[in-house]
Amino acid sequence: MELNNTDAKSFFKNDVGITYDDFILLPGYIDFNIDEVTLETQLTKGLTIKRPFVSSPMDTVTEAKMAIYMALLGGIGIIHYNNEIEEQVGEINKVKRFENGFITDPVVLGPDNTIGDVYKLKESYGFSGIPITENGKLYAKLIGIVTRRDIAFEEDRSVKLSQVMTSDLVTARAGITLAEGNKILKDSKKGKLPVVDEKGRLVSLMSLNDLLKNEDFPLASKNKEKQLLVGASISTKEEDKERLAELVKAGVDVIVIDSSQGNSIFQINLIKYIKNKYPDLQVVAGNVVTQAQCKSLIDAGADCLRVGMGSGSICITQETIAVGRAQGTAVYNCAKFAREYAGVPIIADGGIANIGHITKALSLGAGAVMMGSLLAGTSEAPGEYYYKDSVRLKKYRGMASPEAMEKGGGKRYFSDKERIKFAQGVSGAVIDKGSILQFIPYLIQGLCHAMQCLGCQNVSGLHDSLYNGTLCFEARSPSAQREGTVHSLQAFTDPTFGMLQSKTTSAK
Ligand code: NAD
Ligand code: IMP
Repeated sequence: MELNNTDAKSFFKNDVGITYDDFILLPGYIDFNIDEVTLETQLTKGLTIKRPFVSSPMDTVTEAKMAIYMALLGGIGIIHYNNEIEEQVGEINKVKRFENGFITDPVVLGPDNTIGDVYKLKESYGFSGIPITENGKLYAKLIGIVTRRDIAFEEDRSVKLSQVMTSDLVTARAGITLAEGNKILKDSKKGKLPVVDEKGRLVSLMSLNDLLKNEDFPLASKNKEKQLLVGASISTKEEDKERLAELVKAGVDVIVIDSSQGNSIFQINLIKYIKNKYPDLQVVAGNVVTQAQCKSLIDAGADCLRVGMGSGSICITQETIAVGRAQGTAVYNCAKFAREYAGVPIIADGGIANIGHITKALSLGAGAVMMGSLLAGTSEAPGEYYYKDSVRLKKYRGMASPEAMEKGGGKRYFSDKERIKFAQGVSGAVIDKGSILQFIPYLIQGLCHAMQCLGCQNVSGLHDSLYNGTLCFEARSPSAQREGTVHSLQAFTDPTFGMLQSKTTSAK
């Protein structure tokens, strides 16, 4: 019997850069059911999460909404820093304050606002009961609520809300459980339940609609205080030490030092500074693609490495500066070195275009994958949908694209001395993928199928079989790659949220 046992060590021994599409994994032996596959993984040296998914710190990918749902689904989101410090901290606060079923940043008005203001809000937020506080802000004394019924028959839009609001309120005290709130809402037959602290100040709102669609997230990524986990990115610029201090105050769990080439004196000094000043804060350093880069950052104190240079869907680094590495080769070499040298996990960052790529990244030793383009088309990503040629799209852009650099006030590349703007990314669009509440479970299910086929019940088992040589790799010729996609059809329907490579003949 011929055994094809091209283990990773032999497969990666020549000097050709390998991408995810250049190889295929050979099947293993199945002796367990698919629902016995678990995806728990080591994100950093000090943090474990239940699903190996990280959303990229990009301004068209991760703000609070994405981070909240990534964490609820067992992964983690990294809030970008292409904004003012207060804005980034504000996003962290929203994640940290999030309680499933409670609206922790409700729209609030004051007694001197008018009915006209309510109609203006209706255009942006739809209509729902609006709590009224003394000064029109959250955390101020609650004095009423304005519902559709209160203003339906009042034609004069200049009437102040103090004259129409309902001040006979049913409220709940902060700290109640979802079940208790649910019961109060049902018993009182109200649509909205303001939640107040001991001084009667509004802290959150519960909504009957949200309760009805509320889901349980038993594998959510949470800390000891039961808050969702969240990360934030910073640059290696000196001024970002102030940003870092504010992020730490807000309770950030992971800091990602965001740089395309991590092996710099700036980053090494910053890692040492962080690990000295905030020893418990988990630091993801990078980006790296070689073992020498890994060693520098691990020696400085990194708790995890972010691997990938030039592989992102919006990236033009390999074309413009000819520095980087094919992602399969980068992930394999960095993961192996970091594990053997110091037991440091790595995140495979960039170039993940489908579930197969996720499987391959983990099979090459990554603890988790970081995704940009795959998540940018979901409803949880920042930005509005728009139509082009009848296709529903969302904007997606590189953080080193001219547009993103402009938004960041030129803080990335445009030093006083640098007069020519040199971009390493592009702006584009991705197709609508709906909500990650459907999309991530689909990725999870696909990954579980892949792991079962490989005969690996969990991520650490997959890594064991990578390093003990039982996981087998085979190169794919160009025609093998063509054979592996949909072919010879005049038309077909893509059942994969638009992730199939063969698109030209796709039709409903
Ligand atoms: P960066 O901030 O690391 O580097 C920008 C420039 O500033 C570099 O010339 C760097 O040497 C310099 N610099 C950084 N810290 C400094 C300090 N303290 N003192 C003096 N000079 C300093 O950012 P970048 O590498 O240009 O990346 C910008 C964004 O684009 C990031 O979000 C990054 O993730 C993304 N990007 C990623 C890739 C990739 O392949 N992963 C490639 C290009 C860009
Ligand atoms: P994607 O998942 O293939 O879309 O790649 C996302 C990754 O691309 C990010 O996590 C970054 O590492 C990288 N990236 C972000 N912005 C840029 C850019 O402007 N140029 C190059 N790479 C970028």
